[in-house]
Amino acid sequence: MQELTHYINGEHVKGQSGRFADVYNPATGEVQAKTPLASVEEMAKAVEIAAAAQPAWAAVNPQRRARVLMKFVTLLNRDMDKLAEALSREHGKTFPDAKGDVQRGLEVVEYCIGAPQMLKGEFTDGAGPGIDIYSMRQALGVSAGITPFNFPAMIPMWMFAPAIACGNAFILKPSERDPSVPLMLAELFEEAGLPKGILQVVNGDKEAVDAILDHPTIQSIGFVGSTPIAEYIYGRGCSNGKRVQCFGGAKNHMIIMPDADMDQAADALIGAGYGAAGERCMAISVAVPVGDETADRLIEKLVPRIEKLKVGPYTAGDDVDYGPVVTAAAKEKILGLVQSGVDQGAELVVDGRGFSLQGYEDGFFVGPHLFDKVTPDMDIYKQEIFGPVLSTVRAQSYEEALKLAMDHEMGNGIAIFTRDGDTARDFASKINVGMIGINVPIPVPLAYHTFGGWKKSAFGDLNQHGPDAFKFYTRTKTVTARWPSGLKDGGEFHFKAMD
Ligand code: NAD
Repeated sequence: MQELTHYINGEHVKGQSGRFADVYNPATGEVQAKTPLASVEEMAKAVEIAAAAQPAWAAVNPQRRARVLMKFVTLLNRDMDKLAEALSREHGKTFPDAKGDVQRGLEVVEYCIGAPQMLKGEFTDGAGPGIDIYSMRQALGVSAGITPFNFPAMIPMWMFAPAIACGNAFILKPSERDPSVPLMLAELFEEAGLPKGILQVVNGDKEAVDAILDHPTIQSIGFVGSTPIAEYIYGRGCSNGKRVQCFGGAKNHMIIMPDADMDQAADALIGAGYGAAGERCMAISVAVPVGDETADRLIEKLVPRIEKLKVGPYTAGDDVDYGPVVTAAAKEKILGLVQSGVDQGAELVVDGRGFSLQGYEDGFFVGPHLFDKVTPDMDIYKQEIFGPVLSTVRAQSYEEALKLAMDHEMGNGIAIFTRDGDTARDFASKINVGMIGINVPIPVPLAYHTFGGWKKSAFGDLNQHGPDAFKFYTRTKTVTARWPSGLKDGGEFHFKAMD
């Protein structure tokens, strides 16, 4: 069995704590590796190395730092298949989906090549007589990131690319479920020319996270994961005086108006509801058709599409729509929630509970489920299921659909399908959710815009990537300078008479 490592000061370092977590191949259910879980002391060592390396990196001019990112992009493209294969093997998502995971991270690295432009600062010439004011954006020092299992390439890159482009050192504590790709990314970044100690990967669980939260040298923390942990990290990190941004869970709705193209809406729901086995924070988990006739037409279109879904291991290539969920515990939680939906009176239109795949009986596969007539008081509506389960809540009017989504405590993403521009505009203007799709089911903004939810889906005031990332990973210093008039007023060419 493979024993994974940390990546500290440019080297693979074995875990010292004696504690490990199992890393599964979700398709077979086998433990394929064990990952070390760092102690407080191991984290402190990485922080010490980061703090020593960071000033020299911050002193490298931004254009040269950007060149290291350029090379990193080249290497990511070179190793794309290798990264995606390792990602699928630990996460379970299909190979094309794993490539998308790397690609969406790579695009943020590309955006961060613009660091020299983003870090230029501001200048006011002549703010007063002989007075100029200028503001510069300086690196924070040592930053840390704690990331979830579901995007083991993309989300670490969303954090460390801007942090490092700004001149910070970064410590990544990836998910213990799929830590191999983060380790590969750190190695690749160094191959691109990043100095040792600027990007380190310290594997671990709560102990390592708490060590980050309490370490006085760490200036900022980025977190992406479930809402209870996001709230915990935000609270403890902020009370320790750190800059913290935390992105939590989701319950994304898709409203289907009676005038929507029903085939288009059904196709969109299939991809957004079941893609990656529903393990996306931007997955659509609630369909809200407006009017019973719309609901009936939608369900009629969805059922045959769901029945055709191909569930299997990533090794089956293009023949698979989605793979297993990440762990046996995740599978159990999903099936438990499905049972609660049945017990609480929802109509299970497509029942995936008996699903089993020949040759992969021990894998963590979950068949697709479709619920109809879900009501807001049911657990399957209130909780994030994070599995291939789509719930339909019927609304009788646009206003009712809008209110339903607005009253939910989560607010990551949402979509509306309609042919009416006025409805779409009204919706985008009124809804209290961070990312909106109009006839687009998964509205993940591109790298040069920002990503972030509202309500219990995000804590903190700046979003991920885009211009916000350059604000989050720097602090502003403003200089007001006055230079008294100098030689230009005339040199002294004559001996002055002594008074
Ligand atoms: P998780 O909250 O279980 O874990 C996230 C990270 O927190 C991991 O690194 C984990 O080791 C650490 N952690 C777990 N328990 C902890 C504890 N008690 N104390 C301290 N640290 C702890 O999340 P996950 O299961 O890995 O990821 C799925 C969740 O992430 C879903 O809720 C999903 O919606 C969310 N997510 C959100 C976004 C977003 O941008 N809003 C993006 C991706 C995933």
